[in-house]
Amino acid sequence: MATYDLVVIGTGPGGYVCAIRAAQLGMKVAVVEKNATLGGTCLNVGCMPSKALLHASELFEEAGHSFAKMGIKVPAPEIDLPAMMNFKQQGIDGNVKGVEYLMKKNKIDVLVGKGKILGTGKVQVTGNDGSAQTVETKNIVIATGSDIARLKGIEIDEKRIVSSTGALALDKVPSSLLVVGAGVIGLELGSVWRRLGAKVTVVEFLDRILPGMDSEIAKQFQRILEKQGFAFRLGAKVTGVDTSGATLAATIEPAAGGAAEKIEADVVLVAIGRVPYTDGLGLQEAGVVLDNRGRVQIDHHFATSVPGVYAIGDVVAGPMLAHKAEDEGVACAEILAGQAGHVNYDVIPGVVYTTPEVASVGKTEDELKQAGVAYTVGKFPFTANGRSKVNQTTDGFVKILADAKTDRVLGAHIIGREAGELIHEAAVLMEFGGSAEDLARTCHAHPTRSEAVKEAALAVGKRAIHM
Ligand SMILES: Cc1cc2nc3c(=O)[nH]c(=O)nc-3n(C[C@H](O)[C@H](O)[C@H](O)COP(=O)(O)OP(=O)(O)OC[C@H]3O[C@@H](n4cnc5c(N)ncnc54)[C@H](O)[C@@H]3O)c2cc1C
Repeated sequence: MATYDLVVIGTGPGGYVCAIRAAQLGMKVAVVEKNATLGGTCLNVGCMPSKALLHASELFEEAGHSFAKMGIKVPAPEIDLPAMMNFKQQGIDGNVKGVEYLMKKNKIDVLVGKGKILGTGKVQVTGNDGSAQTVETKNIVIATGSDIARLKGIEIDEKRIVSSTGALALDKVPSSLLVVGAGVIGLELGSVWRRLGAKVTVVEFLDRILPGMDSEIAKQFQRILEKQGFAFRLGAKVTGVDTSGATLAATIEPAAGGAAEKIEADVVLVAIGRVPYTDGLGLQEAGVVLDNRGRVQIDHHFATSVPGVYAIGDVVAGPMLAHKAEDEGVACAEILAGQAGHVNYDVIPGVVYTTPEVASVGKTEDELKQAGVAYTVGKFPFTANGRSKVNQTTDGFVKILADAKTDRVLGAHIIGREAGELIHEAAVLMEFGGSAEDLARTCHAHPTRSEAVKEAALAVGKRAIHM
């Protein structure tokens, strides 16, 4: 029987990063993966394919709408969807191969099959052909991630009624797309298909989009998306989809109750969130306790209720984000090696990769108000940023929230092009407990969009220069 220091079940960004860090620290490591490819949701059907399609569709839209005003004459662009899907697949393949290479480089064994925990120190791996092997290990890390959340009574066939997975692989551009859920995934994939020609309607149960993000940013984002052609039905729920006709007919009801109505669509995308995935892991028999939302319960050291069994990533509490899973993977491996692994959950950025992007780190203004924290706000619009002006990409603004007494930055929220890159300036500052003054006194290259971040920091002290 093979014996290891660590067996990680699942090779998403949580699992494979944990395995690499453990191997770096001298452990003998194996990963178990039930899918044909490594990399989990993120690389295969999540972050990476969605970004490939967002990139391609953005350039398609730019070519059709922005080139002419910059003096670039091209014929009207045409969509070759199979080629675009091939571009996406090449990106997936490249990243998946990269993980395979990293496993080899770090001498990590890859055990293909479904992992089941038989108790402390024992994992059974059952291959697709039914053959089973049991491996012994000092430690087990559960990194089995998450699965799509489903709506009762609405069956996902991944053709006409799709989850994010089907929405990343449609074989033609739908003339109309109904998105259920105005969260990150719904708005990103809605953007892809709108740019390619679909009429997109988003139905959201709450009275706002992007729940959890700063509400001022979300409001402005909604206005921008509406200008782009999105239609929103907020405070409404989809209660059924009639699939009998050539076009789908979704039943929409006001969230607060009231008369139902029908909305027709070629494709319905159910994007109401994700749920932890623990099927077939044998957790109950092994005695691993779950919380009331089906997530594996852990302590501050990622330890479950069973000695020697740990859990990280989407399968535990916290934001379902790849970088959160990765950081937990690193911290967990370091703790297993006797080091002081740690994740700062107060500084985990969140990004919506639309155009413009939305990015956020730390507390929102809504959260600070609710907690009764005295804060100051500095805002700076991209309309006053020179680089954005010359590029004619002036949508959005930067908002920095600082403690009223100490000036320590508590949160940063950006809507605008490249917001997902700009946000890390605030993240690094916050990791070091920096103040708005620290950021404002840091020299920023000109002309960059980052200058808007500096100006927002200056605005905290009411001394922005270009406004
Ligand atoms: C469309 C979409 C877009 C997204 N975009 C982003 C983004 O831009 N940025 C971001 O940060 N996050 C994004 N996410 C979320 C991100 O994908 C997840 O947060 C991340 O993948 C979680 O990593 P993980 O390692 O916990 O689990 P996963 O990536 O879900 O990996 C879990 C792995 O475990 C395997 N597994 C499960 N059970 C077993 C078993 N019993 N035996 C063997 N193997 C098993 C699965 O096959 C899978 O490979 C997106 C998600 C989706 C769906």
